Amino acid sequence: MNESKNSILLVQSPRIWPRLPPLGMAALYGYLRANGIDVSVMDVNQRLYQVVDDSIKQLWELPVYPAFSRALWDFLNRHHPQKTESLIEEIAGHPAQVIGFSVWHSSLHFSVSLAQAVKLRAPEKRIVAGGPEVTLRYRANKDITNIFSFADLIIVGEGEKALLNYLTNGADAVNKICVSDPPEIRTLPAPDFSGLKSYPYRYSSALPVWMSRGCIRRCAFCAEHTLTDSFRMKNPRTVVDELQHFYFHDGISHFVFYDSLINGDLQIFEEFLDRMVQSALPIKWEGQVLIRRDMPSRLFVKMKQAGCYNMFIGLESGSNRILKLMRKGFTTEDATRFFQYAYNAGLHFEVSMILGFPGEQEDDFRTTIRFFQDNALIIPKLAQANPYIELEASPIFRENGIRGRIPPSQVVRQWITELVETCRQNNIAVTPAYINNLTLYEAGFDAVSGKVVM
Ligand code: SF4
Repeated sequence: MNESKNSILLVQSPRIWPRLPPLGMAALYGYLRANGIDVSVMDVNQRLYQVVDDSIKQLWELPVYPAFSRALWDFLNRHHPQKTESLIEEIAGHPAQVIGFSVWHSSLHFSVSLAQAVKLRAPEKRIVAGGPEVTLRYRANKDITNIFSFADLIIVGEGEKALLNYLTNGADAVNKICVSDPPEIRTLPAPDFSGLKSYPYRYSSALPVWMSRGCIRRCAFCAEHTLTDSFRMKNPRTVVDELQHFYFHDGISHFVFYDSLINGDLQIFEEFLDRMVQSALPIKWEGQVLIRRDMPSRLFVKMKQAGCYNMFIGLESGSNRILKLMRKGFTTEDATRFFQYAYNAGLHFEVSMILGFPGEQEDDFRTTIRFFQDNALIIPKLAQANPYIELEASPIFRENGIRGRIPPSQVVRQWITELVETCRQNNIAVTPAYINNLTLYEAGFDAVSGKVVM
């Protein structure tokens, strides 16, 4: 086949967080358009989110829930068959020769089912599968040619260069795995949300953005490092220019950085803060921040001045013994100092916790409780508390499997309940929806009733 491949339809399947447009899709849209590719986008996630009732919308908003993706496909085929049929027909009939599916852990089954249906309807279409779940499976040595057998090309890693090459060189590839070279981050164009403007995202005055890829740490339980080979940050001037552009052209005043962490390089981060302060724009932003003992107090003051309204911080434990096993790279003393600096600067933040890490014992948990009691005045919020979840691409799994004893699940549940109670007794706010939310990780979703089945 020698058909032109320089047009592509990017498809985002459920489930991903529906309140903001998909950043990965906007980043690819911007990159491919800047390189002369004819790109279209279809946010199937947002489109279908609009047609379900409120109880299903609540499930949709939970962060990680792979079983939901599978059952949602069945549910929609049962209750809204015309919706799935018209979806398949629309994608199969789209003029683009290439259809790209960005696959997440939480969208895996829907993406696979939809892509298979499209390929069946329009065998002449070239299907490309990429995204975090493809990369995680590949790095965990899983057979990805089987589950993505419908794909003409499977892209592993940061996919920009491989996808552009496929769209421009005209060569056919059949079920081929391509490990993409990471792009030069400093020359990547800004995410382009113009193709997504017609979708009714709930946070209409906010956008997701990014200033870095990768992480400088290798926490024992985390698989983030498998997605990107190295940590890199954009030029701070470019980031500020992008925010200003969105502010002046689209009226966007709030931004959510989707980076693994925004303070991976303190020198570059400080330049970003200085430039934001100099811009004097009424822009507000939030992001994930790493606890670092080398982050000076002046940076917290600058963050506040630069418009930061919230930091999400992975504390994970209040026990130094467990932090060391987790390889978090900081101690509780570092965390206390970090929180004190944030408190002094008037910066709001929220922490996440993992309970039941392999090797964690009652004494460790008691130490964590004391940490929260001792620091109650300077910890504003517990955002998330969940049992430890084993990830196959994580260092601890790849090195030795589960190291140490995992506490019984009922004990961990009890610990989480007690931690939440301790927070409430000490006036630390709690986000109820994100307490134990990952225990729905493999829960069932009844395709007949549209409800969770534990
Ligand atoms: S948990 Fe956070 S800091 Fe640790 S490796 Fe993962 S992304 Fe990096």
